[in-house]
Amino acid sequence: MFATANYAEERGKCEQMLQKFSVLSMNPEDPPQKKYLEMIAEVNAQQRTSFPISLDDVSSFFGESSELLSNILCNTRRYVELFSEAIDNLLPARSNRISDDDDVIDVLVSQRIQQVAAGEQVDLKTIFPRELLRRFSVTFTPLSHMKPHAIREIRASSVGATVFLRGIVTRTTDVRPQMVVATYSCERCGFETYQEVISRTFRMIDNCQSERCTSDKTPGRLTLQTRGSKFIPFQEIHIQELSNQVPIGHIPRSMAIHAFGEQTRVANPGDIIHVSG
Ligand SMILES: [Zn+2]
Repeated sequence: MFATANYAEERGKCEQMLQKFSVLSMNPEDPPQKKYLEMIAEVNAQQRTSFPISLDDVSSFFGESSELLSNILCNTRRYVELFSEAIDNLLPARSNRISDDDDVIDVLVSQRIQQVAAGEQVDLKTIFPRELLRRFSVTFTPLSHMKPHAIREIRASSVGATVFLRGIVTRTTDVRPQMVVATYSCERCGFETYQEVISRTFRMIDNCQSERCTSDKTPGRLTLQTRGSKFIPFQEIHIQELSNQVPIGHIPRSMAIHAFGEQTRVANPGDIIHVSG
């Protein structure tokens, strides 16, 4: 664990890698490819939503025994966020126009930009939760020399860390939408409020916190706007140990895995899968 103050520095390192990491082209005549900058360009062109970061790349960029690599492995969730923020910073500024294929969130964002633009320049990221504006999700692909573990080898100390598992899929649930950002609007002043939803249960906000409503001392009631909220696909995948992972005389252990976004609908019962996360 390290202090929050270091997060800016760590995010800087993430940004540095995304900008500078390059791989040799297939054709030796061509210049090396900036792998992650190309992926960011694809995100910007709305051609890509998954953003896998290879831990082998992290290892070759910063070194096998680098602090960043071990930090990612033991504090994975934090680094998914840091890399996401680094990508946010490297994406070109959002243009303020509405086209036919924009979704409701884009329209809401554009309206809000116009509202605030009437006043002064405001950084979009301070108004909207970053999660609402993001069109990509970061994942880490395990180091190629990592060996997948059996379920029984996972300990309480693995919580929050990257684990790499092998097992057989016994059951998958239907893919359902899970809310990641809840958008509310005020019945009284029309102001929109955004709430990031981090866990599966969350407390809904009741009262409007807008300047108008708070200065009037009669906050309006907030209603949840399903259409303006952001959802991602969610699926539960149940896996069980393979027979060769179970000591003789023991019962195979099982585990439920939560899959989001493009990780849903990839596994079917009977498949032997490697999961990391
Ligand atoms: Zn209000």
